[in-house]
Amino acid sequence: DNRLSKRVNEMATSATLAMAAKTRELKEQGIDIIGLSLGEPDFPVPEFIKDAAIQAIKDNYHSYTPVDGYGDLKKAIITKFKRDNNLEYKPSQIVVSTGAKQSLANLTMVLLDEGDEVLLPAPYWVSYADQCKVAGGIPKEIPTSIETDFKVTAEALEEAITPKTKMIIYSSPCNPSGSVYSKKELRKLADVLVKYPDIIVISDEIYEHINFSGGHASMAEFDDMYDRTVVVNGVSKAFSMTGWRIGYIGGPEWIARACNKMQGQVTSGANAIAQRATITALENPPSKIQFMVDAFKERRKLILGLLSEIEGFQTNEPEGAFYVFPDVSYFFGKTLRGKNINTASDFSLYLLEEAKVATVTGEAFGDPNCIRLSYAASETEIKEAMRRIKEAVA
Ligand code: PLP
Repeated sequence: DNRLSKRVNEMATSATLAMAAKTRELKEQGIDIIGLSLGEPDFPVPEFIKDAAIQAIKDNYHSYTPVDGYGDLKKAIITKFKRDNNLEYKPSQIVVSTGAKQSLANLTMVLLDEGDEVLLPAPYWVSYADQCKVAGGIPKEIPTSIETDFKVTAEALEEAITPKTKMIIYSSPCNPSGSVYSKKELRKLADVLVKYPDIIVISDEIYEHINFSGGHASMAEFDDMYDRTVVVNGVSKAFSMTGWRIGYIGGPEWIARACNKMQGQVTSGANAIAQRATITALENPPSKIQFMVDAFKERRKLILGLLSEIEGFQTNEPEGAFYVFPDVSYFFGKTLRGKNINTASDFSLYLLEEAKVATVTGEAFGDPNCIRLSYAASETEIKEAMRRIKEAVA
């Protein structure tokens, strides 16, 4: 539609949200779809967090909040960073936003100028590329493959750097691959980055607690990277609070100040009630949500076992988040039930139509050989979905 801006016309629709909308539409038509497309824990919000939100309403937290978040929430975030990550921040280095998605959007808006390049080790989270483009940046994918567990190597990183490189964005644990960078692996990447002091690192750690590898590491832990690393985190995944929309950053003060300024013109402070509840969420130790992590671990085992019984699905062992990202290129060039499968998108659509299972094409994540399945679903749903997929591709 040429009445709209070039900006929005050139923007891709979020593939995960598009698949979720399509799933909802089919379900409303009475079609029994199993949705494995959304990245959303299926647990309710823990009671102690709900109680805090109810109390906040009763305590009349109804006004605009400070743009960058309540002071006592920032304090809780600082304590959390110290407790879980051994990172030290001052309140002026913290900005609370309407979801980590807004935190990331703020960062691209305040850091990128027209033509700046942003390194995205692929596969990467759907919104990074389009957020960069809206801000005038140019996403530069660094391909990885299942052979390196979908992790970028120091050599590939260095090769991708140009004089125009402004920043790198990645998530660990990674959505969609589930890969977790160890401290040693991050150090190797840091050894490259220290040679290019102007490159900013955006470390998306929203899946920090959903980690089965036994340890979470952050680029910001390295003294020589701290001053140019922004850590992005939030409560959506760990506390099952996706709809409550609270994310935050810890990073260099000059960047935090700019995010505050940007947000002050675009949205103002995040939802007051959700901010109050987030204080309670963060003040509690991660052990409070271990039951969810344990459940995800069980489901990972279940889905990997069932997928290994289906010909043509090659998987890595995801160490975190709640996704599997099988390479399905085996099916490319084949015809299933009269339908030609040439791309991951064809395959994902085929699974929706023939198996009635919603997945997301890897193309949306910068990897055209894979599809993403979320196992944030019940064991019954996972078993039934895998049964249907197996039948549909037989
Ligand atoms: N980063 C990654 C890697 C995600 O998977 C998501 C949500 O899917 C987000 C950020 C955004 O999270 P929020 O709900 O806090 O906006």
